[in-house]
Amino acid sequence: MVRYSPETGSRRMVSLALKCEVAAVSLPDLVRRTLRDEVLSTSAYHVAEAAGMVKLDAMENPYPLPAALQEELGRLAARAPLNRYPDADATRLRAALKASLDVPDGVQLMLGNGSDELIQVLALACARPGAVMLGVEPSFAMYPIVARTCGLRFVGVPLRADFSLDADAVIAALRRERPALVFIAYPNNPTGNRFDERAIERIIAAAPGIVVVDEAYHPFAQATFLARLGEHPNLLVMRTLSKLGLAGLRLGVLIGAADWIAELNKLRLPYNVNVLTQLFAEHILKHDDVLREQAAAIRSSRAQLFERLQQVPGVHAYPSDANFILFRVAGADAVFEALKRGGVLIKKLAGSHPALTDCLRVTVGTPDENAAFLDALAAARAS
Ligand code: PMP
Repeated sequence: MVRYSPETGSRRMVSLALKCEVAAVSLPDLVRRTLRDEVLSTSAYHVAEAAGMVKLDAMENPYPLPAALQEELGRLAARAPLNRYPDADATRLRAALKASLDVPDGVQLMLGNGSDELIQVLALACARPGAVMLGVEPSFAMYPIVARTCGLRFVGVPLRADFSLDADAVIAALRRERPALVFIAYPNNPTGNRFDERAIERIIAAAPGIVVVDEAYHPFAQATFLARLGEHPNLLVMRTLSKLGLAGLRLGVLIGAADWIAELNKLRLPYNVNVLTQLFAEHILKHDDVLREQAAAIRSSRAQLFERLQQVPGVHAYPSDANFILFRVAGADAVFEALKRGGVLIKKLAGSHPALTDCLRVTVGTPDENAAFLDALAAARAS
């Protein structure tokens, strides 16, 4: 419908037919009739405005890199070949990650622009007509969003009231729905708990397709299914550097048998991990003890924050193996807004799922940030 104008040889587009058709419909109608229903009916992942706030909403590591390391990165950035495409296979970075993450021999790594991208690659690869992605509820919001936008049906199996994994219910759903893809976050977001290992094992054994154990919060739980990759051909493990302190770099890692990774790699867009991310991540991984020390500091702050949260009247805090804590408080909406007015941004989960009524989630920050949050919470409860 849009034609190139041959007379002038210029890049002027002649859009005769399009003009006629488009003139007859409004732009919103044009958008609606052009795009897929799955896209139109999906709500975008919401990212809150956080400028000037104590930012405890997104499970980031609150600590910057040491000044000397920052300076080294500055020097690397200055020399980075930004005129060139990155190494499409990120060979050196994958080798560095393999060592740093203690990946067992005989499995392969695939890198994503954040693990979000890897979730999308997996969904695209499995999106046969009628294909199903299965997860538990509540869990990471991107699983159902990606499923729907890629054309998979999402089936969510409720967690028990205490947020533990109901393996029997999941296995019954596996038999009923035959999902191509199952996601289990370990520890789970937003509940923070680590599901029973045996229950996950049973699910992996019963699943007819891929089971991804999403270990985004591994630095704070230090438990992994990596060693089990050899035992279960349908198991893939996913990691990210985001929570470890490099959220801005956007680097996710999918780990599994070469047979899976070779096929999934076909869907990875070329050069998805940019030059600076490759350079920086490779360099920082040489000093990964810094990130591990920061994770240890966050783990000990988590214990203190949990203890103090439990002491706030009317608050029920859930034990966490991650770098955030889920808590329930009457009037969560008002508490969330009062915290925001007090300059502290956390995450409101109330309203996102029936099991999360009156629930809020706070990321573990620095001791000062945690104190600011607790003060603002006490003030909100008093008002
Ligand atoms: N998995 C889980 C369980 C998460 O909570 C998140 C981010 N909140 C991700 C994956 C995505 O992380 P990223 O894209 O930053 O790697």
